[in-house]
Amino acid sequence: MKIKQWLKKIKSKGLSLRTTFTIMLILSGFITAALLFTTYKAFRSYHSMSEATDVYMELQEAAASLLSASDYLTEEARCYVVLGDRKHLDNYFTEAEVSRRREEAIQVMEERIPDSAALYALKLAMNASMTLMNREYYSMLLVLSAQGDNDIPKLMSNTVLSEEDAALSPEEKMHRAQTMMHDTDYYLQKNVIRNDLTECIAKLKADTHGAQNETSRRAHTDLICMAALVLIQSSGLIIMLTLTTRLGINPLLKAVEHIRRDQRIPIMGANEFRYLAGTYNQMYASYKRSIDNLSFQALHDELTNLYNRAGYDLIKKSIDPSTTALLLFDADKFKQVNDQYGHQIGDKVLIKMADSLKQNFRPDDYIFRIGGDEFVVFMVHVDNGVRFLIENKVAEINRELSSGADDLPEMSVSVGVSLNNEERPPQDMFHEADVALYYVKDNGRNGCCFYSPDMKDVVGL
Ligand code: GH3
Ligand code: MG
Repeated sequence: MKIKQWLKKIKSKGLSLRTTFTIMLILSGFITAALLFTTYKAFRSYHSMSEATDVYMELQEAAASLLSASDYLTEEARCYVVLGDRKHLDNYFTEAEVSRRREEAIQVMEERIPDSAALYALKLAMNASMTLMNREYYSMLLVLSAQGDNDIPKLMSNTVLSEEDAALSPEEKMHRAQTMMHDTDYYLQKNVIRNDLTECIAKLKADTHGAQNETSRRAHTDLICMAALVLIQSSGLIIMLTLTTRLGINPLLKAVEHIRRDQRIPIMGANEFRYLAGTYNQMYASYKRSIDNLSFQALHDELTNLYNRAGYDLIKKSIDPSTTALLLFDADKFKQVNDQYGHQIGDKVLIKMADSLKQNFRPDDYIFRIGGDEFVVFMVHVDNGVRFLIENKVAEINRELSSGADDLPEMSVSVGVSLNNEERPPQDMFHEADVALYYVKDNGRNGCCFYSPDMKDVVGL
């Protein structure tokens, strides 16, 4: 219900630009933070995957070299006990030193993957290897003893022959040494080492695959999250651009277009723009009213509401003189009305004259009060056949003004008319009507007369 009301409010008032952009800013802040966090996580996943791979590869290498070292030691020990060549003994201990260094390296890795099954198998293999090496030391000591060689390698210094073996003859010692290196126990022990190391390598492979799978699964999830966030952010950007266009840019462009055309601005876009457009429209309307009032006042007469002198000057430029009749009205002996009845009554008589003119001419015709008791009428779209009509209109006006039906003093008007023809320039029309008016005034007033050139001489204008 609340959402419905909210949607209704948005529809009528429009979305607020400030609220929209604040929300978008906060959302995009959250999305950016989430994107950075997911990128960091993906980077960590990748890093731990490569680290795990490095560690396990190092371990695999160490386990594999331990296996080959064990085989090499067996080979050298056997050669020594069979051939009795000191060279093989030295080879053996040189390799034994290297193997020890490998053991140290394995110890370092033990710190990194302490609880793995691979390491457990490796430890078993190393213990079995130690046991086997002790057997090999013993066999080789038997050979040294049989050969009477007292140069005993340092690593063998803790190995001591049993009393029984020490008492054997050199041949028996050689035989015993060869037997120890080739009997079932030796093979079994050797197999234990081989099996343990093989298992260790297999487990390492499995562990490595497991770790790789786990980290790649996490990296995959992180990448999907990143892609989703990028998608959301891109969609947000598109929404933001669309909103910016709909809420701000479009209303702005429309507003500029309408202002250029001197029109009201359409109410559209964001709440703020609607407010701006509404305020502008109000100001525009009141400005237009003022302008209309001012131009009306500038062109109209306050007393009669007819066009004034300025209106006459303006409109005369737009009429076609060849199809226009200019009628110049002047109230007869109007001064007397003012003197006799007062200025206020005089004004009422002028208003009555204006009303009478309005009633007797068409809406298309223009009526002006150009000053005092003088009025001009432009009868538009007429020809010479209008004379009779004009005479009738003037007669009717004079009838109305002299009726006395409204308690106003009886009045009459004199009218000079200029009907233009092609032979005279249109700008002379007023002057012609004035001449004709003088003629009427000189000849008893209360009537009308059409200008003819010979009138000039009569009225002396
Ligand atoms: P004529 O027949 O020769 O025209 O005589 P007239 O008395 O009408 O003389 P004229 O037209 O020269 O005088 C016009 C008078 O109109 C002069 C002035 O006192 C009067 N008048 C001018 N403006 C106004 C106005 O606004 N109100 C009133 N009541 N009288 C005005
Ligand atoms: Mg007059």
